[in-house]
Amino acid sequence: MLKKIDHIGIAVPSIEEARKFYEDVLGLKLDNIEEVPSQKVKTAFYDIGGVWIELLEPISDDSPIAKFLERNPRGGMHHIAYLSDDVSAELKNAEEKGVQLIDKTPRGGAGGMDIGFLHPKFTGGVLTEFCSPQE
Ligand code: ZN
Repeated sequence: MLKKIDHIGIAVPSIEEARKFYEDVLGLKLDNIEEVPSQKVKTAFYDIGGVWIELLEPISDDSPIAKFLERNPRGGMHHIAYLSDDVSAELKNAEEKGVQLIDKTPRGGAGGMDIGFLHPKFTGGVLTEFCSPQE
């Protein structure tokens, strides 16, 4: 079952540059910066009322975020993530209802979470992620 919005993923060309806006203008407090080599990204997390803002910077040219930035050079909204108690069950349910999956089974994401993505072609153009804390 889905619990709440866990985070909003925002692609940025540079986390160091983007921090000026999120910290100096919005006044958010940086929680942590982490590299996730399996996804070829560096992430920065800000907590805002129990929802995370996740900044995503590519760490290689073949990163999915690098491809996104080719189409959106200034960066932009990348995905929305729903907290679930069972990512496998969410993926299975979506697939049964005709939604194409990017991830057939959950994989490890930032912050020790299991994550799985749905294809945006089947979600009204919004890249949709399910996540849950790893057991
Ligand atoms: Zn995410």
